[in-house]
Amino acid sequence: MSELPATSGPQQGWRQQWPAWPARNQESEDNALRCLGSGRWAVSGPRLDGPGFEETFAAEFADFIGVEHCVPTANGTSALLIALEALGIGAGDEVIVPGLTWVASASTVMAVNALPVIVDVDPGTLCIDPEAVRAAIGPRTRAVSVVHLYSSVCDLDALRKLCERHSLALIEDCAQAHGAEWRGRKVGGWGEAAAFSMQQMKLLTAGEGGAATTQDPALHRRMYQLRSDGRARTTAPRAGEMELSMTGEVMGSNYCMSELTAAVLSGQLRALPEQNSERAANAEVLDSLLATIPGVSPARALPQVTRRTYYYYIFRIDRSAFAGHAAETVVAALRSATAAPFQTVYPALPRHPLLRPSTKRRYAAIPGIEKITETELPAAEAAQLEWVSLHHSALLAGAAAMGRLAEALAWTQRHAGDLAVADTSSVNLL
Ligand SMILES: *Cc1c(COP(=O)(O)O)cnc(C)c1O
Repeated sequence: MSELPATSGPQQGWRQQWPAWPARNQESEDNALRCLGSGRWAVSGPRLDGPGFEETFAAEFADFIGVEHCVPTANGTSALLIALEALGIGAGDEVIVPGLTWVASASTVMAVNALPVIVDVDPGTLCIDPEAVRAAIGPRTRAVSVVHLYSSVCDLDALRKLCERHSLALIEDCAQAHGAEWRGRKVGGWGEAAAFSMQQMKLLTAGEGGAATTQDPALHRRMYQLRSDGRARTTAPRAGEMELSMTGEVMGSNYCMSELTAAVLSGQLRALPEQNSERAANAEVLDSLLATIPGVSPARALPQVTRRTYYYYIFRIDRSAFAGHAAETVVAALRSATAAPFQTVYPALPRHPLLRPSTKRRYAAIPGIEKITETELPAAEAAQLEWVSLHHSALLAGAAAMGRLAEALAWTQRHAGDLAVADTSSVNLL
């Protein structure tokens, strides 16, 4: 790669209109209109001729991930919840979760009356550290709920081995990794169950939406019922009949995905593989450009990752190469120079402003709950000071735009001594 040009100030050309996200496409528009005209807007409505959008999307998504079963849900949070419930996790149990993640990793565990045990992350991938998991396993541990974070995939080999040895369920949170592969197989099929989110910012979206996947038919049957108030699928339903029948095998709640959401997702899924490839190609361009800037290290994937996805592109800065500034100041400078969607990474989960178990009276019955916000996690806590993230929409802007982002970062470094200190509230958080 050639040297980045030395410039005296932010260039006009660095600021641009970055690609909008979410991105409409013809197929999702056509599907949505067909759904609206069909008279069937929910799986709890009478069946039409042939499968509805939700059933079709479940089959398409299972096929894309390479798993036997998929249960669409209202959002990613409810997908995690039905996975925990279907695995029988409840009062008195502990579930190990990573210290760097969206708050749903912990809140869903509390929602089934179990205790989230928050452990530290690997400073290279920012994913849950298998050694920290090993150290946290105790007599009450029932499961490990791992997150494939930003552009990383967890060390699934180490985590699977640990879970097998201690008879723990492995739940993969794939909300940020639709299409990533570990040793040639997609994430979402490596544990007992997995959860996906199709919220607006995610790689695949209909604004809201989610899915739980599994290879296990019994787990699938429970998750299916848990999301539709305990109703199971009628065997071979005919047109005009209800598709859900009351079996009463398990008590559920309503986390159904609407037909309209499934219609949009079906159309969006068609575009995902090409978007993932384009993002990966531009991420590689950015990797090689950033590697020429001293004190800047793009995140590297573990060698078993055969296909990377990029919910956020992330890189680490050596603060001494930026006049001692924390990432939030570099992020603020990059945002003002480029208008690109740069952010810091999550705060460590115990410090997350949304983790407030004491505000829900029903969690008072979970032993140890009052202590979780005191957990100390050195690697997770350092991450917000040292890592910069860039939303995936910017990776759809083309290779030349990647060059402008790298130039802006090199300029920010040269002028780091002049930067005003920013605060996290101006650069956060999703
Ligand atoms: C987005 C996200 C969720 C929650 O998904 P929703 O659809 O917003 O409920 C859970 N876990 C992770 C890691 C996420 O990024």
